[in-house]
Amino acid sequence: MYPAKFDYYRANSVEEAVKLLAENSDAKLLAGGHSLIPAMKLRLTQPALLIDIGKIDSLKNIKANGSLEIGALATHARVAASADVKKWFPALANAASLIGDQQVRNFGTIGGNIAHADPASDPPTVLIAAGATIHVRGASGTRAIAAEDFFVDLFTTALEPGEVVTKIEIPNLSGRKSAYAKMSHPASRYAIVGVCAVLSMEGDTCKEARLVVGGAVAHATRLSEAEAVLKGKKLDAAALKAAADAAIAQVGDDAMGDITAPADYRRAMVGQYLQRAIQSALG
Ligand SMILES: Cc1cc2nc3c(=O)[nH]c(=O)nc-3n(C[C@H](O)[C@H](O)[C@H](O)COP(=O)(O)OP(=O)(O)OC[C@H]3O[C@@H](n4cnc5c(N)ncnc54)[C@H](O)[C@@H]3O)c2cc1C
Repeated sequence: MYPAKFDYYRANSVEEAVKLLAENSDAKLLAGGHSLIPAMKLRLTQPALLIDIGKIDSLKNIKANGSLEIGALATHARVAASADVKKWFPALANAASLIGDQQVRNFGTIGGNIAHADPASDPPTVLIAAGATIHVRGASGTRAIAAEDFFVDLFTTALEPGEVVTKIEIPNLSGRKSAYAKMSHPASRYAIVGVCAVLSMEGDTCKEARLVVGGAVAHATRLSEAEAVLKGKKLDAAALKAAADAAIAQVGDDAMGDITAPADYRRAMVGQYLQRAIQSALG
């Protein structure tokens, strides 16, 4: 399979990438290429111009200073291995380590992943649970978008044409407990169901829970009904079961199905993986 003919340009800065996008309505950014190139080979997309941002070093930084900032071009392998990410938000390091295989993790970037917005991706689920902010730059300036508002539908984000994701910012989560639990597709490792739990605890009692599901639904979504069930409760087996039931009810007919996992199976697994994520966070 060969892609349609296209032009290629390597951008040396974000400003240059933004300018090229503004001048070429039929252009696409190229980061790790692990979603875009397969889609081009299948002729699902046929951009006339690829703007390669892969050599823009300023987009590769990971730094913790008040908040954790992850450049859009940080690869999954670097996110998984980063001491700052492991310390600041271990659920993200774990989620990144579970993505695809080593080659995918070496090339795929966190910015490309969220811009592509595959429903079976792992980072969107975890970033919403953290209350992360996505920073973008376009011809008319910069914007900050809450991760919760960024993922709009299947392969659809709040990005406007011509905007580049520059970095992801994760607030200080010290004192919170977090974990990501994932059922992987046996071949690709994409999430059939993934649930992230970020818990704020006072002794045994849950002060606040942020619970997010991905894989089973069109875009990563907060499980607000389950969050409400857990608020102010001791997180014993009965509370977890009640939260799982609430999550299953909330997902309802939104559960997606395919030949690997029908909708009713994914819906049931949301409950299972929600409990695993919470137990793992507490453990
Ligand atoms: C075999 C295989 C298995 C995988 N398994 C998993 C998995 O288990 N979990 C998972 O989460 N992911 C998985 N992935 C996806 C992978 O993790 C990559 O993150 C994903 O392919 C996109 O990242 P990329 O850097 O390759 O982006 P690209 O393919 O280069 O780009 C993807 C899209 O995003 C746009 N884009 C790229 N960077 C930016 C930016 N900075 N700003 C705005 N738009 C941008 C591009 O124009 C394009 O439309 C898998 C991929 C493969 C091939």
